[in-house]
Amino acid sequence: MIPRDSNGKFTSGERVFTKEHRENMSKANEKLKEIYSDKEIVWCEMCGTTFGLTFHHRHKRVWYKRKMKLLAEFDQTILICLKCHQRIEYNREEHHKVFNKLRGW
Ligand SMILES: [Zn+2]
Repeated sequence: MIPRDSNGKFTSGERVFTKEHRENMSKANEKLKEIYSDKEIVWCEMCGTTFGLTFHHRHKRVWYKRKMKLLAEFDQTILICLKCHQRIEYNREEHHKVFNKLRGW
């Protein structure tokens, strides 16, 4: 039994994700790699490094659960390094600022 909050939403992190969901995530990653290399974005969009790059999504992963197609959308993602990722992961204000600047709303 997965715990839910009063709105019926799941409260525990990774258990929300099914095998299918994880497969969609990795498919989305493959597609994003193509999109970004087509656009020739091959560095961290925040600091410019080419080391330790990772896609960062605009919304929390659970938000995409019923909108899987959006996972592979350019506008939903930025390419950043692990260091910058850590910097904005738990800083929603900074996160919004970065997305606003790079992708608009
Ligand atoms: Zn960076």
